[in-house]
Amino acid sequence: MCQFSCGAASAVATKLALAQYGATHDVQIVNAFLQEEHVDNRRFAQDAQTWFSREIVTLRNEKYNASAIQVWHRRQYIKGPSGAPCSLELKRKLLDEWKQPGDVMVFGYTMEEADRLDDFRERNPDRPVLAPLIERGLGKEDCKAMIERAGIELPYMYRLGYDNANCIGCPKGGEGYWRAIREDFPEHFEAVCALQDEIGPGSWFLRYRSGPRINERFPLRDLPAGEARRNESLPSCSFFCEAAELEYTA
Ligand code: SF4
Repeated sequence: MCQFSCGAASAVATKLALAQYGATHDVQIVNAFLQEEHVDNRRFAQDAQTWFSREIVTLRNEKYNASAIQVWHRRQYIKGPSGAPCSLELKRKLLDEWKQPGDVMVFGYTMEEADRLDDFRERNPDRPVLAPLIERGLGKEDCKAMIERAGIELPYMYRLGYDNANCIGCPKGGEGYWRAIREDFPEHFEAVCALQDEIGPGSWFLRYRSGPRINERFPLRDLPAGEARRNESLPSCSFFCEAAELEYTA
C-alpha cells in the first residue's frame, strides 16, 4: 500500500514499489485530497498516475470538507504537543478506514529520514514496511531529479522553492517558512491569522527565539519582518509518517 502525497519522494517510492512488486502483488496507491494544497498538486497527481500506469485512489475527508482550517477551527487549536490535528483527521484516519489487516505499507522516507524508519521498525517489529528510497540510498534531491528525468514537472510548490508540496501554510513550518507564505500566499496567511484572532492564544504555534519573551508563543500577525525561507525543511506530512509517529507518540 503506497501513500502518494503529491510529493516527489512518495512518487518515486511508489514507482519503485510498482517496479518490484507490481506484477506479483496487489499494489495499491492512495492519496488524501486536501483543500489547502496548491491546485497544481492535482496536475502532478494526474501526471504521476500516467507514470505509474496504475490508478491512484483519492480519499477525501467529509467531516471537515478535507480542510485543515476547518479541523483547526472545530478542534480550537492548530498544533499541540503530539503534532497537528489536521494530518491525523485528514490523512491518518482515512488510512485506518482504508487499510486491511496484513497490508504492507510502503514508506516514502528518504535517506535523510533513515532514523525515523529505524525508530518505526524498532517499535513495531511485527509491522511489515518497505522503504524503497532508503533501501536504494535515495535522498530528496535524487527524487526530484528522477521526477524531472521522467519528464514530469515538479509540483508548483517545489518550483517556488519550497521543501515539499505540503498544504500552503503548514504549522510544521517555522518563522522563515511563514514569512515566505506571507509573501507568496497572503490570502492563506490572512486566513490563519483570522482564525487565530478568533480562537486566541491556544492556537498560537510560533515561539520567540530570543529576547525577554524567549520561548513564549506569539500569533502569526506578530511575525516580525525578516528573511523568508522557502526551502526551510519541514517534516513530511503523509498518512504513513503520521501513522508511524503516532505509533510511538500515542
Ligand atoms: S501538510 Fe501541514 S497543514 Fe497540511 S495536513 Fe499536513 S500538517 Fe496539516
